[in-house]
Formats: sequence, structure tokens, C-alpha cells
Amino acid sequence: MEKEQYFGVNVSPMDYEEIIADLKKRIQAREKSTIIAVNPEKVMAAEKDPELMNLINGATYQIPDGVGILLASKMKKGSISSRVTGVDMMARLLKFAADDSLKVFLYGAKEEVVQKAAENIHASYPGIQIAGIQNGYEKDEQKVVNKINEAKADLLFVAMGSPRQELWIRKHMDELHPVVYQGVGGSFDVFAG
Ligand code: UDP
Repeated sequence: MEKEQYFGVNVSPMDYEEIIADLKKRIQAREKSTIIAVNPEKVMAAEKDPELMNLINGATYQIPDGVGILLASKMKKGSISSRVTGVDMMARLLKFAADDSLKVFLYGAKEEVVQKAAENIHASYPGIQIAGIQNGYEKDEQKVVNKINEAKADLLFVAMGSPRQELWIRKHMDELHPVVYQGVGGSFDVFAG
């Protein structure tokens, strides 16, 4: 699907269902996919930072998280008419994982937050397989990579704030085994309630 561009930043004009349907095909083909939430703050940061721009534009899906993107699309007569937020995208992916027996890994946030988030996710998505959790303050990056791979996770959610989480995903994606990667900012705090 053709992407829209705002100040040089790509945005995918797909809704939740379209992204999940597309992901299913990519997972079957064992193609790795990355999801990055786009909001005006990220667009502004990317304008000043070519590396960040590159990173965002290289993702598989740049979801229109911020309402500012909708306004911009409307003004340009684009086709983005509803938000696809990072936290709701994660919720849809959790449901998808539970339904399709895919394993998820939660990496990021403080230890008590990621633990509580996992507990609540277990309760809200019956049958979900949480392959592992890791707080976002482990300095030994290789240890984290090994833990995720040994857990045989299919979907990896990284909640360490932006752009830290996106940079971490890009740095390690070649050696990581999951097929779907989403940087989710403060979403574990939301799931922890
Ligand atoms: N975080 C982390 N490791 C770090 C820094 C932050 O795991 O080294 C976590 C933090 O505990 C919080 C999440 O990242 O749960 C989001 O942080 P923040 O609100 O700063 O990011 P934003 O949502 O504003 O991008």
C-alpha cells in the first residue's frame, strides 16, 4: 500500500485490521516486520535527525499514532482518517497472538511494571503465551538478546521510550529471532494499570 509523507516521514495508511492481515502473510513467509508509531513529536525530531528519519522510514509500518497526522492527511486530501495508536496496536497484536498461538516477549519498563503488565495481559487475553519478560534497565544487551531468542518469542514489544527502543530494535534485529517488533513507549505502564 502506498505510503503518505509528512515532512519527509512515511506514514502507512492502513488500519488495525489491514496491518494484522498483512502481518499474517509476512509471518507465514518468515519476513521480519517492524512497527513504529508516528506522532508530531517524532516527525519534528526526525526533521532534525537524518538517522532517525531513516530509521522511521525503514520500518514496515509507520502507524498514525498522533491526531496531528490525521489533520495533515486531511489537508493534503490523503486517506488517513483514523488513528492507529501504539497501545491499541499492541492490544490488537496480543489478541492476534493469543488466537494464533504466537509467543510474545515483553522487554522494557521497570521490573514491577513489566511484571504487572504481564500479569494483566495474562488475565485479559486467555490462552496468551508470554514467552518471557525483561525490565528495560539491563546493561548487558547481549544477555537480553539471548534471553529473547531462547524464549522462542514470535512477537517482541520493546517499551523503553523513543527513540531508544527503535534504535535498540534496529541494532539487534539481525541476530534476534522474533518476526514482529513494536516499540511501544510507555504502553507497559498502561497495561500495568
Ligand atoms: N524505560 C526503560 N529503560 C530506560 C528508560 C526508560 O525501560 O532506560 C522505560 C520507562 O520505565 C517507561 C518507558 O520506558 O516504562 C517509557 O518511558 P518514557 O515515558 O520516558 O518514554 P515515552 O513514552 O515518552 O517515549
